[in-house]
Amino acid sequence: MNLSALAGNQRIKEQLSLQERGRGLSHAYMISGPAGAGKHTLARLLAAAMLCTGPGEKPCGRCGPCVKTAKGLHPDVILVDGPGEGKPITVDQVRQLRADAYIRPNEGERKVYLLERADQMNPSAQNAMLKLLEEGPPYAAFLLLAENAGGLLETVRSRCESLALGPAEEPADGEAQRERRQAARELAGALERAGELELLEAAMVLDARRGREELSALLEALEGELGARAAQAADRRRLLRAVDLVKELRSAAKLNVNGGQLSGWLCAGMFDAR
Ligand SMILES: [Zn+2]
Repeated sequence: MNLSALAGNQRIKEQLSLQERGRGLSHAYMISGPAGAGKHTLARLLAAAMLCTGPGEKPCGRCGPCVKTAKGLHPDVILVDGPGEGKPITVDQVRQLRADAYIRPNEGERKVYLLERADQMNPSAQNAMLKLLEEGPPYAAFLLLAENAGGLLETVRSRCESLALGPAEEPADGEAQRERRQAARELAGALERAGELELLEAAMVLDARRGREELSALLEALEGELGARAAQAADRRRLLRAVDLVKELRSAAKLNVNGGQLSGWLCAGMFDAR
């Protein structure tokens, strides 16, 4: 899954990606965490992933359903909030929701309900919700947002998969570093495996870098990653060749050579080496 719009929370991202590849996404999630933790961001990403019609990783972020979901315009993504400012969802609203859930989706394969402040619903509203979680139509999915997961009845919680978001967002710099390390790992993997098409695709990451500084930082991370792999590999010839190439690229990056040229240089150098 592509959950990069959510800051931090690596464990949850891995949990969801594994699940999506395995048995598929669940029909009910409890998304908990303090204000600002990214509950709505994650809920929108999950809703988009469930409705996405694009190719590859979901949500693709580009297809019609993804764009509509991001803008809050998808008719099958329904935001349910209390009847007034700060008021929790009532039992009457849950009954209406139940009636609505039995009307088939408008556009997509699924209907996704986002329930605001589900932890503040009173017990009768929660019990009505429980019935829906147990007996709702198979195309309906429910995302219960909660600041305090303990505010939900145990019976409701047990029907939902729990996604507990970390309290604070990671600092922007830490996030950039992590992203860079990840990009370096992917490119190093492609260099090691030597599949021509894979390498051409992976090397495009150099083309997409913004600015000379970021490009240099990525190349530095890449050299480190290749060096670490070479130290452990049985056949290190390719990896050492790649390290030499990246050293050349790093010098070139200080001059007026752009990322697109560098990625071409890297691929050509590796293909020649075979
Ligand atoms: Zn999509």
